[in-house]
Amino acid sequence: MHPMLKPALRRAWRGRNTVQFGVTPAHAVTLGPMDIATGSFLELLDGTRGLPLLREEARALDLSDRHVDILVSRLTEAGLLDDPDAGGPEADALRRRAETLDRQRPDAAALSVVHPAPGSGLRRLAARRAMRVQVRGAGRVGAAIAALLSGSGVGQVEVLDGGRTEPWDVAPGGLPAASVGERRDTAARQLVRRSAVGGPPRAGGQDPSPAGGGAALSLVVMAPRDGLSVYAPDPGTAAPWITSGTPHLYAGVIEATGVVGPLVLPGGTGCAGCLALRRAEADPQWPRMLAQWRSGRRSHGVQACDLGLATAVAGLAAAHALSFLDGELPASTGARWEAAMPLLDWRSDRLDPHLDCDCGAAGHTEGELTSAAGAPQDTMAG
Ligand SMILES: [Zn+2]
Repeated sequence: MHPMLKPALRRAWRGRNTVQFGVTPAHAVTLGPMDIATGSFLELLDGTRGLPLLREEARALDLSDRHVDILVSRLTEAGLLDDPDAGGPEADALRRRAETLDRQRPDAAALSVVHPAPGSGLRRLAARRAMRVQVRGAGRVGAAIAALLSGSGVGQVEVLDGGRTEPWDVAPGGLPAASVGERRDTAARQLVRRSAVGGPPRAGGQDPSPAGGGAALSLVVMAPRDGLSVYAPDPGTAAPWITSGTPHLYAGVIEATGVVGPLVLPGGTGCAGCLALRRAEADPQWPRMLAQWRSGRRSHGVQACDLGLATAVAGLAAAHALSFLDGELPASTGARWEAAMPLLDWRSDRLDPHLDCDCGAAGHTEGELTSAAGAPQDTMAG
């Protein structure tokens, strides 16, 4: 073990004998009382020294071996220590791909803040390589989500869409202007490949990634160009995912409103069917209007889609997707987030399961969700 204070967290003395690690309340930790010598000792925890050398150098600061051991274990318990060698074989494999890791250093640092055990942040990052995600829709939102997931290290990102790229599909971070007139799915696949860190993950067979073509889908992201299919998702489209237990996340823009969520864990959280039932209960005229909106869809019309809002929706949706793939349950789980122009304040609505929906989520409790996510569990390494 080569203890290293997580570089992602800024350190500051809070008063004379307390140290605060981290700036923002979400992850900041304070430790104290701490004397000046111990404060100086913290500078030695940079991942270059093993415990024997740390104890030796601590003696020069008049700190006992026992003091060092207690401090290191307290820092570990507080989730403040990383270890440049920890995280298991997948993390080691990522370390050997230096260029890839360099691209992902900020992502690794972010994950180190979220996941307390030494090496667990890097292990989660490396685990993304085995994930398979399907993005349905390659417009301004869908293509950007696919690019973001690929650039975040997800090993297999498939994009499904029809037709050819239109000028209004083009977006920074999404489909390029050069792809106008090309098949949308082809253009999106090229975008995914260009965005991938460390090159295409399955090229040449040199990569022992377990992400084979037959791997089960870790997640489906429903990001169609038609925002109505996100705002009022069709339960029929989602039925195969409910049956197969495939988690799916909705994201899109309709008119001047951006929507992220719900992330549906089949049988665990409210689904498109639950949403449809709740809406019909709250507004008896809803089904009638929905039928008109669906049938009145004009194929030649260009839908409203603010570029900034679309990019924000894509970014938030990708972050929620990654959080889920990393083993967490982000705030879109069983809820949807909406931001409407011009104020653009994100608001969330819970989507409780409906008893009449055959997805079976009603009657389940929140506590059962964790196991449903199929997340890798933390293990203390080293
Ligand atoms: Zn349901």
